[in-house]
Amino acid sequence: MFEIIQKPSPNFDERKDDICMIVIHATATNTLDETFSYLIHSAAPNRVSAHYVIDRDGAVYQLVDEQKRAWHAGVSTWGGKTDINSCSVGIEFQCPAIDDELGDFTSEQLQAGILLCREICTRYGITVYNVVRHSDIAPGRKKDPGALFPWDEFIKRVFE
Ligand SMILES: [Zn+2]
Repeated sequence: MFEIIQKPSPNFDERKDDICMIVIHATATNTLDETFSYLIHSAAPNRVSAHYVIDRDGAVYQLVDEQKRAWHAGVSTWGGKTDINSCSVGIEFQCPAIDDELGDFTSEQLQAGILLCREICTRYGITVYNVVRHSDIAPGRKKDPGALFPWDEFIKRVFE
């Protein structure tokens, strides 16, 4: 498919549920190094992570093994589930924040994200209803990936 660059994060624990969702995020950081400082080198009690980060040039980094529980969803609910970290794969899109608003996305990273999501959905039998934005599962608390993420087109292409 495409190369996945391993960039291990220590921020994970054991899943308590089967994988049935994908959660899409945007980093709101200026550089990939800044993103890694949050997702790999963050200190307690604010340790966070994600399974994948997609850089603006389309490079895909894997931080946490899919079989492990990454820490990306926080307090969230979807389809009656509340431990979203246990049942989801978390994907972060590298994206700047400008005046507290999320920036845009490149066609290279969107294309890589479509291929990655399509492949994950096929492997776990994930349905279109269960590919969600962080803002869908934590409304009021989270805004990412933001209004500039072309959500309808993205979902259409993941499932075409
Ligand atoms: Zn998020």
